[in-house]
Amino acid sequence: MTSWQALFDEAARWRDAGRTADLWWRDDDAVDVGPALDRLLDLHRETVAPLALAVVPAQATTALAQRLAAEPGVDVLQHGYAHTNHATPPDKKIELGLQRPAMIVLGDLGTGWLALERLFAAQALPVMVPPWNRIAEILVPTLPEIGYRGLSTFGPRRRAEPVRGFRQINTHVDLIDWKAGGGFVGEKVALTALVEALTRSRSRDGEPIGLLSHHLAMDGGAWDFLRSVLEATKTTQGLSVRTARELFMS
Ligand SMILES: [Zn+2]
Repeated sequence: MTSWQALFDEAARWRDAGRTADLWWRDDDAVDVGPALDRLLDLHRETVAPLALAVVPAQATTALAQRLAAEPGVDVLQHGYAHTNHATPPDKKIELGLQRPAMIVLGDLGTGWLALERLFAAQALPVMVPPWNRIAEILVPTLPEIGYRGLSTFGPRRRAEPVRGFRQINTHVDLIDWKAGGGFVGEKVALTALVEALTRSRSRDGEPIGLLSHHLAMDGGAWDFLRSVLEATKTTQGLSVRTARELFMS
């Protein structure tokens, strides 16, 4: 059985149960315009797949804001503040950790949100995407207190709402093999992760399943796969690609 067939079989199980699996697409690390962003937006337009773009507020440019303003179907999420690592090796990289006082971290996030609101207006959603998908657990309940509606990291979520009314909607399929130098993980690995995430979601709370791309870091294989999987979801009953706005804000 091919990996693609496993995906279609899993989609059929959703459909046969009278359900539709929610998928979504998050791309990280946007700061400016350029050929990689053009390629990303071309793919978004050609596949008609809704795109959630995680933007680093401290480095986001006016040119990026102008480019996105012309693109319907792109939601902007907040990717931390400056994508700065505050951990000391060998600890894992983290911006939103406990290396600094919480007030400083939250202050940065507030400053970042104001920048996103100014640049992207209503295209920006108050949803936090922590750099390296990492945030100190103790900081999570403070996010809704300062206005955030949702959180997005990587892997199966523990709770749909870490705080009442505050949603966590993660990504589950990373196209890049960071440990092996940053190439594409390969079709088989990506599809296996996708099918496993869908199967787990079907047996639990219907957690939306996220595809994670990095337009600045992808090789040809990753781009080709991303196109194939977005096109497959469009034509497969039982699967539906949703906007971040629908998933987090409705
Ligand atoms: Zn990042």
